[in-house]
Amino acid sequence: MTLARTWSVGLAGVSGAMVEVEVDMSAGVPGVVLVGLPDAVVRQSVDRVRAAVVNTGASWPMRRITIGLSPASMPKQGSGFDLALAAAVLAAAGALPTDSVDGLVLLGELGLDGSVRAVRGVLPAVLAAARAGHGTVVVPAGNAEEAALVDGVDVLAARTLGDVVGHLSGRTRLAAHRRGPLPVPAPAPDLGDVVGQAAGRRAVEVAAAGGHHLFLTGPPGAGKTMLAERLPGLLPVLDERAALEVTAIHSVAGTLPPGAPLLSRPPFEAPHHTATMAALVGGGSGAIRPGALCRAHRGVLFLDEAPEFPRATLDTLRQPLERGQVTISRAAGSATFPCRAQLVLAANPCPCASAAGDAACTCSPLERRRYQSRLSGPLLDRIDLRVELPPVTRAAWMGAATAPEPTAAVAARVAAARAAAADRLGDTGLVLNSQVPGRLLRERWPVPRAALALAERALDRGLLSVRGLDRVLRVSWTLADLAGRTVPDGDDVAEALGMRLQRVAA
Ligand SMILES: [Zn+2]
Repeated sequence: MTLARTWSVGLAGVSGAMVEVEVDMSAGVPGVVLVGLPDAVVRQSVDRVRAAVVNTGASWPMRRITIGLSPASMPKQGSGFDLALAAAVLAAAGALPTDSVDGLVLLGELGLDGSVRAVRGVLPAVLAAARAGHGTVVVPAGNAEEAALVDGVDVLAARTLGDVVGHLSGRTRLAAHRRGPLPVPAPAPDLGDVVGQAAGRRAVEVAAAGGHHLFLTGPPGAGKTMLAERLPGLLPVLDERAALEVTAIHSVAGTLPPGAPLLSRPPFEAPHHTATMAALVGGGSGAIRPGALCRAHRGVLFLDEAPEFPRATLDTLRQPLERGQVTISRAAGSATFPCRAQLVLAANPCPCASAAGDAACTCSPLERRRYQSRLSGPLLDRIDLRVELPPVTRAAWMGAATAPEPTAAVAARVAAARAAAADRLGDTGLVLNSQVPGRLLRERWPVPRAALALAERALDRGLLSVRGLDRVLRVSWTLADLAGRTVPDGDDVAEALGMRLQRVAA
């Protein structure tokens, strides 16, 4: 037999796409011809595959070898095709029975010594193989736990090309990998660690309950980072579908923590302000990787010292956050990733960042204004909650007589509030107050006129825009949900207004 076929999987964003690998041997000048849009990495893979085959003890056929990857129109990136190429070449050369590789899906990069190396994106690849009806997938041993998350597919874990050749030739057997018990995720940071900061604690609770973006200002040491880190712990644990979705993103990004094949907690991503656009949103050379924004999908994206981020970078976040997805285009193709993340911005009140707060500030009013205006209006305008944290004084620290409420207690209130909102939003397809468009909100769930007096006065005095009023109404509903009220009252509106009209208001 001189023709062999097998399968591998390419990535398009966070989805896998089946790629058929065909190898034909013919008489003629020995050499390798690749067809089907392979990128530079796939071209190099021929050299790796040749070395791996020889170092495994098999011989490389001295024939004219034509390798086709189809569909030809799909860009093929990365090194994950090595193992499939090696198996197809050996089968076409007669070193393996061709029917042993027919219909088989193989994923993995080969080392020159014949070792099988872990690759990114194995979870979405195996999901795609299962969807396409393939029953068996060979994956690198390092990716086996991740691959075994997918039901209905036999996962064979390979450490070396020799393992795979032995299995396919029937000499030895690779046992199907059984998924171990899912490890219990490490406990998330607890809200009980945050002493004082009643306003900040309230803000993260409201943010979690309604899915609202949050902006925290306050001097260094006031607890901005501590509070932001505790927001994911207040969000509901991801259900299976959501967990697979989030895990697939981290699989493609190559950020899946070892020993944690399934991410079941909302993720927390905190990129530094020096992060490149590619690191923040996505990109990179070769296969497009999701950035911090996408890795925060169904979790929290925290930008500490937000005014230090380049303005263009912050502006780039606006549309993806609104649409819940981002498309990254490169010469080699484009990829779309989901990014439904909750944004938390933090900022010092001024560039001197005095820990004692305004009392010890050495900045001129102009410097302060310039610093605060570095955050773009359009992005800030989409943030429902703006909370100013006072410096933590010794008195507040010592005076905290009762232990602060732990995450579990607050998360229970958040869950009840979310259930109330989802129930009310019912047939709209929306589940969180922050998602409700202003017009729909005003038409279907009007807040009683009597409760609105304060908001109307703020509107009259120009302290609040009409769009700002919509945001106040959304937060009012979340406050009512948290309090177990069926409709917001004047206190809810007043509190929501207070969380909108901070001094930093742009
Ligand atoms: Zn200052």
